[in-house]
Amino acid sequence: MDKGLLIVVSGPSGAGKGTVMNKLIAGGDYALSVSATTRSPREGEQDGINYFFKTREEFEKMIADNEFLEYAEFCGNYYGTPLSYVNQKLDEGKNVILEIEVKGAFQVKEKCPEAVLIFLAPPSMKELEERLVGRGTESPEVIAERLARAMEELDLIDDYDYVVINDDVDEAVADIRSIVKAEQRRAARNIGINKKIKGVD
Ligand code: 5GP
Repeated sequence: MDKGLLIVVSGPSGAGKGTVMNKLIAGGDYALSVSATTRSPREGEQDGINYFFKTREEFEKMIADNEFLEYAEFCGNYYGTPLSYVNQKLDEGKNVILEIEVKGAFQVKEKCPEAVLIFLAPPSMKELEERLVGRGTESPEVIAERLARAMEELDLIDDYDYVVINDDVDEAVADIRSIVKAEQRRAARNIGINKKIKGVD
């Protein structure tokens, strides 16, 4: 069986990554990796579904035990991608999505150059601020910190393979599906297809 594609989606907090990812995985053909974090759960978030919520000690033990594909600190908390789930799903032929911040994304690209990096951007900073304030889950200080971080992250778009603007959720989802389809059709990802076509496989 062919291995699945490793797809990394990054974008500023409030760019709508969660909404876009939920729509994308609803079709059943993508596996969304669940990260570990030391951040406290937001209202409604469940352990093992949104994140694996860990203490700093637990997280640092996972680092020491080489359990992460990548990890990074973001606004004072650790976030990391457990390696085992990703490998298992890729081996099953599923396309795996990592919804992670920029430092982690570049670690993945270094370890797995075949990964596809997509930057999900808001239409404007004004819109981003309105979404973050409207969400009502963070204090003004945290919002200010996340907006400052967004300004830095936007300068890294050039290092991504693709950029998708999340103005309309359905369009953003369709864009990501098109990107994945095109990537799957790359000749370099279909080595040996000539033999299959010739029937000499
Ligand atoms: P939040 O606290 O809003 O859930 O996430 C904060 C940031 O951490 C987001 O940009 C999110 O994409 C990123 N993030 C979530 N999980 C991971 C992970 O496993 N690794 C890395 N590097 N970033 C993550």
